[in-house]
Amino acid sequence: MYSISKDLHFCYGHRLLHHPGKCRHLHGHNARVVVRLERAALDELGMVCDFADLGRFVKGWLEREIDHNLLLHRDDPLLPLLQGVGERCYVMDRNPTAENIAQLIFAEVARAGFPVVEVALHETASACARYRGDRPSA
Ligand SMILES: [Zn+2]
Repeated sequence: MYSISKDLHFCYGHRLLHHPGKCRHLHGHNARVVVRLERAALDELGMVCDFADLGRFVKGWLEREIDHNLLLHRDDPLLPLLQGVGERCYVMDRNPTAENIAQLIFAEVARAGFPVVEVALHETASACARYRGDRPSA
């Protein structure tokens, strides 16, 4: 099995609904995301995937959707207020935890056709959430 990964960085703000601690307050992270692809066989160039193609897609999606954005649960009472003053928000059906953000990125990379097997979201230097999907065939 061959594997490659690409590291990217982005910034986001969020808060977690119903969290008993400080994560219920608006705050931000400088996140590092590591997207890992796997294939049993290499392509005609000897690659799992061109790093540039993977990086271009993930970087573009991050910049369009969640980089320098505020990720909020759709039930967050702040949402109408922030949207009412024109603030940029990315609305999620689930709490915007590192786990759910990792799964969101995984789903987008998979939808684009990359053989993604894992997305790791490093929310801080010491805290990392991972989402692993089914291993793609070849
Ligand atoms: Zn946080």
